[in-house]
Amino acid sequence: MEIERPYVSSELDRVEGAEIDALMAASKEPYPDPVAWLHEELQRNVLLTSTEHVIDWGKRYSVWPVPLGLACCAFEMICAAASRYDLSRFGMEVMRFSPRQADLLLVAGTLTWKMAPALRRIYDQMAEPKWVVAMGACTVSGGAFRGSYSVVPGINLIVPVDVYIPGCPPRPEGLLHGLMELHRKVLADNLIKK
Ligand code: SF4
Repeated sequence: MEIERPYVSSELDRVEGAEIDALMAASKEPYPDPVAWLHEELQRNVLLTSTEHVIDWGKRYSVWPVPLGLACCAFEMICAAASRYDLSRFGMEVMRFSPRQADLLLVAGTLTWKMAPALRRIYDQMAEPKWVVAMGACTVSGGAFRGSYSVVPGINLIVPVDVYIPGCPPRPEGLLHGLMELHRKVLADNLIKK
């Protein structure tokens, strides 16, 4: 009885020969040294840094503000959030009106003593780490109303301030500059070591 085979001997030789021809055609250049090749690939695709730096970098671009607009400066703050100035570049486009979801208190305008307890309460309700930006002369020092019986001569009497933005009012560009200064501060603060 004859045994069935998928290939007769000559067909098997042809298949094997074709395979060898294809391999010869594809094997004109030697492979590079694996160590050098891997090094080049890593340089192109892998960034090495510390965990602390990645966390601080992420924190810098995800600072969420709770706005406290108290007087005329607030309109410049509102302009800065509109499309012309585009706060979303900084990951800040969504203003949080709940202090528990925010880590930046953005104060713009004249703080009165009557309003001061509310400012302190909002600050206390924010989770750590948190930052405060004082926008405009009134917020920084009482401005034109410094010395008035009703106006707080600088919000740093009520809460710690990270960045002061001068001007009456500061333009939106001033606020953007202040936010970039805050970014530098966030990046420089090492949150893990704290
Ligand atoms: S600094 Fe000037 S613009 Fe700003 S709240 Fe005071 S008075 Fe108004």
